[in-house]
Amino acid sequence: MDTGITGECPITLDEPPLLSQPRAAAPRDAETSGSFPSRLDKANPKWNDWKWQVRNRIRSVGALQECFPELSLSSSLIEVAEKYPLAITPYYASLIRRMDDLDPVFRMSVPQAQELTDPPFLRSDPLEEESDMPVPGLVHRYRDRALVMATTMCSMYCRHCTRKRVAGTREVTISACRIRQIHEYLVQHPEVKDVIISGGDPLTMDTPALERLLEAIRSVPSVELIRLGTRTPVVMPMRITSELTTMLKKYQPIWVNTHFNHPQELTPEAIAACGALVDAGIPMGNQTVLLRGVNDDPELMAQLCRGLLRARVKPYYLFQCDLVRGVEHFRTPLTKGLEIMEYLRGRVSGLAIPTFVVDTPHGGGKVPLLPNYIVSTSPTHTVLRNFEGMMMSYPEPHYRTEAEAAPVSDCGAARGVWQVANGRVSALIPAGSERTTRRARIQARRPMADV
Ligand SMILES: *Cc1c(COP(=O)(O)O)cnc(C)c1O
Ligand code: SF4
Repeated sequence: MDTGITGECPITLDEPPLLSQPRAAAPRDAETSGSFPSRLDKANPKWNDWKWQVRNRIRSVGALQECFPELSLSSSLIEVAEKYPLAITPYYASLIRRMDDLDPVFRMSVPQAQELTDPPFLRSDPLEEESDMPVPGLVHRYRDRALVMATTMCSMYCRHCTRKRVAGTREVTISACRIRQIHEYLVQHPEVKDVIISGGDPLTMDTPALERLLEAIRSVPSVELIRLGTRTPVVMPMRITSELTTMLKKYQPIWVNTHFNHPQELTPEAIAACGALVDAGIPMGNQTVLLRGVNDDPELMAQLCRGLLRARVKPYYLFQCDLVRGVEHFRTPLTKGLEIMEYLRGRVSGLAIPTFVVDTPHGGGKVPLLPNYIVSTSPTHTVLRNFEGMMMSYPEPHYRTEAEAAPVSDCGAARGVWQVANGRVSALIPAGSERTTRRARIQARRPMADV
């Protein structure tokens, strides 16, 4: 038995990072098409069987055309599907409402010719994950956290995937040998407190295979938290069975981060899948990717975030789309994310507001971005602004200068930010904001004595 971390698992090292034997127990794709349209028929008695969903995924341009005859196919589409894997579960395909890229579900799942046009600055591994792998399949970038790529398989391949270099290029699941190496690494690195099981999508693994991995990680005493990163509740909610949640419960504390990008994905089935996980005592977060033509709209994002909270899922991150090959057409300028953050604050519950992050090139890790709320500063005061444009002077503790105590010298300048920064004026309030109007109404209703 090979237990050395530097020892090799029985695979060749020129393979992509996740290295193991083909999935023995994996459900196979349907060889014969049968009648394709029936794949999208929810009345199919097998519809709620997740293995049926996996077996009946749309895997080729031909299958796509059979399911959606009205789809116009270009020859470049076939080229794209050869370059980047294509898979759409019947469930996810059934959410498509119109057959072009104005439909967000279509845009996220059906190959597009633009995937072939890459500006030179795009990389296949923009986050340089391969350089942060002490063991193949384990990314250790932040001191107290490590990420396990448990499988290369997803039930649906997102066109915007940041791991296009891995996900779906082959469909293989982590080997027992690799699990042993990861276990050994974690034992030798007790600073790792939080292990993220990612992929690919770990919930495409069957329950016993996932349990073997969870068992190995949970047996490391220094690991406090296990997180699963999975898009399954969104693309194949029938996978969240009671068999699965009963198994997961044994390895608590487990957190699940999922990946909803658009309100159209918040179906009763997806909401029920999230509910089943939360009912099992698993807190849920969501990691949205900001995508041009899908969710790059402030009000749409507000609807998504409110919908997630209703489904008991906390919007955790809003990701800037990574600089990965094949996704240029999805990228938005950084300012779009900032505009969305500006819109959300003050308009939706604070619980609904994610952190906007850029996972920076060269493996620099995640950097949060916020609109500027500090307008100006002086040694005595900081000028903050709120979402309405109201500017407040925040006095620093125990700091009084002569200037502040001195009489206001009016050099004829208009009231402005400088006066707020020096505490001479405590706020600049825009006239006619919702707040001033509401306050005036309250004031008018009060008995005179109160005023
Ligand atoms: C994002 C990420 C994490 C987790 O980061 P959090 O900010 O704690 O969610 C851990 N490891 C890697 C390599 C990551 O990319
Ligand atoms: S589910 Fe995640 S890993 Fe899989 S294709 Fe989508 S973004 Fe990539």
